[in-house]
Amino acid sequence: MNIDMIKEYKALSVFLLKTLQGSLSGDQGSGKALGSLYESLQSAANASQVKRIHKQVKDLLLKEQPVDVNRLLATMQGLKNDLLAQSNVENDMRSLIGEFKALVNMALHQIEGISLQGKGSQELFSQCRDELEGVATPEAMNLYVVKFKRLFSLNVFLDDETGRERDELKKIITILADSISGLLLSSGDFDSGLDECVERLQQAHTLDEVQEIRELLLQQTKGLQIRTRQMVEDVQQARVQVSDANKKVETLKQQMEKIKQEIVIDPLTRTYNRRAYDEKLKHEVMSFQRYGGPTAMALIDIDHFKQVNDTYGHRTGDGVLRILTEVMKKEIREIDVLARYGGEEFALILPHTPYKQALEVAERIRQKVEVSRFTYKGKPFSVTACLGVGTLKEDDTLESYVERVDQALYRGKNGGRNRVVGEEDFS
Ligand code: GH3
Ligand code: MG
Ligand code: MG
Repeated sequence: MNIDMIKEYKALSVFLLKTLQGSLSGDQGSGKALGSLYESLQSAANASQVKRIHKQVKDLLLKEQPVDVNRLLATMQGLKNDLLAQSNVENDMRSLIGEFKALVNMALHQIEGISLQGKGSQELFSQCRDELEGVATPEAMNLYVVKFKRLFSLNVFLDDETGRERDELKKIITILADSISGLLLSSGDFDSGLDECVERLQQAHTLDEVQEIRELLLQQTKGLQIRTRQMVEDVQQARVQVSDANKKVETLKQQMEKIKQEIVIDPLTRTYNRRAYDEKLKHEVMSFQRYGGPTAMALIDIDHFKQVNDTYGHRTGDGVLRILTEVMKKEIREIDVLARYGGEEFALILPHTPYKQALEVAERIRQKVEVSRFTYKGKPFSVTACLGVGTLKEDDTLESYVERVDQALYRGKNGGRNRVVGEEDFS
C-alpha cells in the first residue's frame, strides 16, 4: 500500500472540494452536498482505489500513454496547482466545473474498480458518466453531487463488503465443489482438478483469487455436464439395445414354443401326433412297470373312410377328421391322450383305467361318432368307427401291447364295423 499516494489523493480531494465549496458558499445546498462528498472520499480511499485513479488519470490526462507513477503524481500536483491558480481568478466557474468533472471522473473509476460490478451499479456508473458530461452550472453540479454521493454511500464500505462477499463465495463454491465431487464419485468419474480447486479455495484471501477459482470450477462443471450428458446418452442407448434384445428373446421363445408344439401336434386335427403318441405310450409302459396299476388303450379306425373321400372329396374328409377329433376329445379326461395315429386312425391312451371302464369310454365314443352329422352340399351324411380296446399286462412289451389292441380293432372290422371289440372278446 502506497501511503503517500493515498495521502496525495486525499489532499487533492480535500483541496478540490474545499475550493468548490468556497466558490459555492452562497449556495447552502451545494455546500452541504459537497461536504458529505468530502466525507465519503475520506473514508473511501485505499491502495486499490489509488490504483484505479492511476488508470483513470491515464485515461483522462495521459491519454493512452503508459502509467508512470511519478508522472501521475506530477500530473496530480499540476492539477492541484492549476486549480489553485484558477481559484485565484475570481469566480472562474467554467474551469472550476471542468476540474470538478475531472475529479468526479477519477472518483467514479475508483469506486467502480472496487464495486461488486452488479448490473444495477454498472448502470448507475454509466448514468453518472453520461450526466457528468452535461454538468455546466453550479446547480447542475449540486444535483450531480447528490447522485454521486449516493454512489459513494452504496460503495464506500466495499472493502468490508468485499471480504464478506469473498467469504460467502468461498462457502458457496465449497458446497458446489462438494456436490460436484459427490456426483463424480457416484458416476465413477474422479477428477483431481476439483480437489485442487477446493484446496486453493481454502487458501484464497482476495476476492480476485476466489473469483478465479470460481471460474475454474465453472469450467470443471461444464466438463462434468458434458460427461454426464454423454453418460445419460450411453445409458439410453444401452437401454434401447437391451429392450431390442429382450424383444428378440421373447420372439425366439414364442417361436421355440411353437416349434415344440408343432413337433407333437398334428396340424390337421390339432390333437397329438404319432410322435407324441409313441412318447406317451413309452412313458405309460415304464410307469406301469415301475408302479403297476391298470392302464388301457384304444385304437380307433373310421369305417370306409376311403368312400367318404371318394364321395364328398378329400377336403370334406379332412373336415370330418377334424370334427371327429373334437367329438372324441369331449368324451375323455384331461390325463387321457388322444393322438392321430395314421390317416384316419386314432389312438387313445387311458392311464389309470381298468379294462371295463376303457370299454365304456370306447363305446361312448363309438356312439358319439355314429350320431355325428355332416353335410356335403346340403346333403347330410354320417360315419362310423371301430374301436379295439386292451389293457397293459405285466409280461407285455410295448409292441405286444399295441399288437393285441390292434388285433381287437381288426376283429371289429371283420365283425361288421361300427363296433367296440375288447381284447377279452377273443381270448
Ligand atoms: P376301413 O373301414 O377298412 O377302415 O376302410 P377305409 O376306407 O377307412 O380304410 P382304408 O385304409 O382302405 O382307407 C383309408 C383312407 O383314409 C384312405 C385315405 O383316402 C383316407 N385318408 C387317410 N388320411 C387322410 C387324410 O388326412 N385326409 C383325408 N381326407 N383322408 C385320409
Ligand atoms: Mg385305416
Ligand atoms: Mg378306415
